[in-house]
Amino acid sequence: MSSFKTLDDLGDITGKIALVRVDLNLPMKDGSATDVSRVEAVKPTILELAEKGAKVLLLAHYGRPKGQRFSTMSTSFVQGDVEKVLDKEIMFIPEVMGPVVEQSIGILGNGDIGLLDNVRFWPGEEANDPEFARGMAAHGDFYVNDAFSAAHRAHATTEGLAHHLPAYAGRAMEAELKALDAALGNPEAPVAAVVGGAKVSTKLDVLTNLVGKVQHLIIGGGMANTFLAAKGVDVGKSLCEHELTDTANRIIDEAAHAGCTVHLPYDVVVAKEFAANPASLRTCNVHEVADDEMILDVGPLATEALADVLKTCRTLVWNGPMGAFETEPFDTATVALARTAAALTQDGSLISVAGGGDTVAALAHAGVKDDFTFVSTAGGAFLEWMEGKPLPGVAALTA
Ligand code: ADP
Ligand code: MG
Repeated sequence: MSSFKTLDDLGDITGKIALVRVDLNLPMKDGSATDVSRVEAVKPTILELAEKGAKVLLLAHYGRPKGQRFSTMSTSFVQGDVEKVLDKEIMFIPEVMGPVVEQSIGILGNGDIGLLDNVRFWPGEEANDPEFARGMAAHGDFYVNDAFSAAHRAHATTEGLAHHLPAYAGRAMEAELKALDAALGNPEAPVAAVVGGAKVSTKLDVLTNLVGKVQHLIIGGGMANTFLAAKGVDVGKSLCEHELTDTANRIIDEAAHAGCTVHLPYDVVVAKEFAANPASLRTCNVHEVADDEMILDVGPLATEALADVLKTCRTLVWNGPMGAFETEPFDTATVALARTAAALTQDGSLISVAGGGDTVAALAHAGVKDDFTFVSTAGGAFLEWMEGKPLPGVAALTA
């Protein structure tokens, strides 16, 4: 990983103005946030800058106003939630540049925090207009990006500002980049990747990138069905993208060339209807799936074999559940493998990094979210990183 500056590289910032990109796109209900973990994530950076005497200006987007001012999408709606988490009053500033911002900065004391309005109210944000970035940069002395979840977007506040001001990674960004580097950038081998979830089509680039980087590719979830079908297995009425069997075979070939072992389940949990604890539930060999059955989870023998694979590995990167984990008992393989990974991590033998909306939910369901080395809540940015794509927001910090 090329290096990036962190808050440790800031000198004396007393009275300096920090423009800090954060993710405050909180899920809201009846005027208050239902989950403030995004604020918790950026709290250390904000408070550290404030404690060091900077005037902290928060930049964030909220919803998709597409370059227009919508009173319903003002960041002022999250002000109260941010204040609660920070345990500190903040000043809402209904602009992102110009005289109103200038006057507000004059009112803010050292260590005070201002929240600028939704950066996406201005078309220059998503267009990454250099003039727009320059206009914001004129108010600040330095720029801190603590929003990894927006780093896959080349927008003015996620990328452009880094070209106009000295740029630093915030603490959350720093932790995310270090974890991702340890998982796939410069990992300790052997590395295992678990890729699951519903469909191959949504994770083609992930699979293609991983076969060249990991020693073990563990494929589970609905997407394993497509790989099994490609190998001639009759998967009954399982979720399966039959049109992608050639692609699946290409990935298997590429893996063989790269010395990557692909693990597919050899026993599976099937049912005739998709419901909790259905009467038709049974476990069978992959070659015994009937025409009217569907595969809904990896079977117990395969799960045990996969646990043994993890025991031989130093690093694990995981995206996608092994089965339809929202419905019992099709969470069994996901929970078992997650607990194995968590235990190995706690023993110090495995570095484990996971991400993805449903994956995070599955790890929480298994009760091991805090036992992994790092769990990314970055969604789209995490997936693009797993696809091996350069993230503009990160590239701008490391340039
Ligand atoms: P993430 O959000 O972590 O990237 P995905 O969205 O790719 O994960 O996949 C999660 C979904 O895959 C879950 O809703 C889960 O029910 C579904 N899934 C997993 N295994 C199967 C299966 N065998 N059949 C149908 N759906 C499955
Ligand atoms: Mg998902």
